[in-house]
Amino acid sequence: MNSNEESSNMSNKMRAAVVEQFGKPLVIQEVDIPRPGPGYVLVKTETCGVCHTDLHARNGDWPLKPALPFIPGHEAIGILTEIGAGVINVKVGDRVGVPWLYSACGHCEYCLSARETVCGQALFGGYTRNGGFAEYLVADPDYVAHIPVGLTARDAAPLICAGITSYKGIKETQSRPGEWIVISGIGGLGHLGVQYAKAMGLKVCAVDIDDGKLEHAKRLGADEGVNAKHRDPVEAVKKVTGGGANGVLITAPSLPAFTQGVGMTRKWGTCVLVGLPPGEFPTPLFDVVANCITIRGSFVGTRQDMAEALAFAVDGKVKADTELQPLSAINQVLERLERGDVPSRVVLDFNRK
Ligand code: NAD
Ligand code: ZN
Ligand code: ZN
Repeated sequence: MNSNEESSNMSNKMRAAVVEQFGKPLVIQEVDIPRPGPGYVLVKTETCGVCHTDLHARNGDWPLKPALPFIPGHEAIGILTEIGAGVINVKVGDRVGVPWLYSACGHCEYCLSARETVCGQALFGGYTRNGGFAEYLVADPDYVAHIPVGLTARDAAPLICAGITSYKGIKETQSRPGEWIVISGIGGLGHLGVQYAKAMGLKVCAVDIDDGKLEHAKRLGADEGVNAKHRDPVEAVKKVTGGGANGVLITAPSLPAFTQGVGMTRKWGTCVLVGLPPGEFPTPLFDVVANCITIRGSFVGTRQDMAEALAFAVDGKVKADTELQPLSAINQVLERLERGDVPSRVVLDFNRK
């Protein structure tokens, strides 16, 4: 396994879903339970959400590839069972989440200015460090999510990636209450994005290519829905919003959605990219320049964003729709995600076999 702080000299075994080859099904196998070295903790997994990013990771879609073999999963919620030497800020029994931002250096210009997600030393859970598709995982206690009492492991799991990413992306659009936002892609990220945006006082236009997802968005509070498969979504959004949305959040893992999203952005508006399909998209340069449009990327969120994203759920303003599955179903779940056949979020439940 790929992590320095783990050693495997213990006889205790755990079940894990392992990527051994890119593009191939994960292999469910017995592996050694990792040991937390100094400064690290051991978490016993209760649940772990399955993000579309896990599919990109399995497929080796991105320029920065994880070292094989690795255990995906970056929406793990669990109970702290063991503490390495020198750890003082958490205790055994705490419920924590082990997110994508597994750790960062804490000292660089980005870490020092609340932009730790782009730290050059950052490690990524379920990618450059083993993640939560396993009964145990090692975590950095300085970067775990602290799960508030009142949130179940099932409800919390999608929030620590899909929730924080959509919430932070909405903030990055700098849309103000009463303004229009487009949420493009109403899957794991988007169905939470609709709820965060409504809770933040925005008018929401949902865009997807699946009528079922759009109906779901409406039930979650979206004011309008546009099916990008049936009509030109740029014209439709411009009509609904009277000239384009002040903010556009693109979660769709599909390149056409990106050029369309820029086209839906109102003059002086901001189009935030969070979906990560491999590749590039054409940008209409004249329109972007002449309409003073901002296009920006957004990458998960900081620990402060995490606390804020979780607080919305504690207040009852945001709730993930989840379907529980056992770890043994992981390959079917990834196939369904690839087909667009997961209504919101599948959460692996480690109490099920
Ligand atoms: P998901 O599969 O649950 O949802 C994707 C949704 O997009 C589905 O509802 C699908 O119908 C819809 N869609 C597909 N093509 C579309 C199109 N052309 N127009 C509009 N909608 C379309 O995926 P998810 O877990 O929500 O993740 C979405 C993307 O976000 C992935 O690429 C993932 O890697 C990325 N992601 C990025 C970050 C980040 O920090 N930037 C964090 C998490 C996930
Ligand atoms: Zn994710
Ligand atoms: Zn740093």
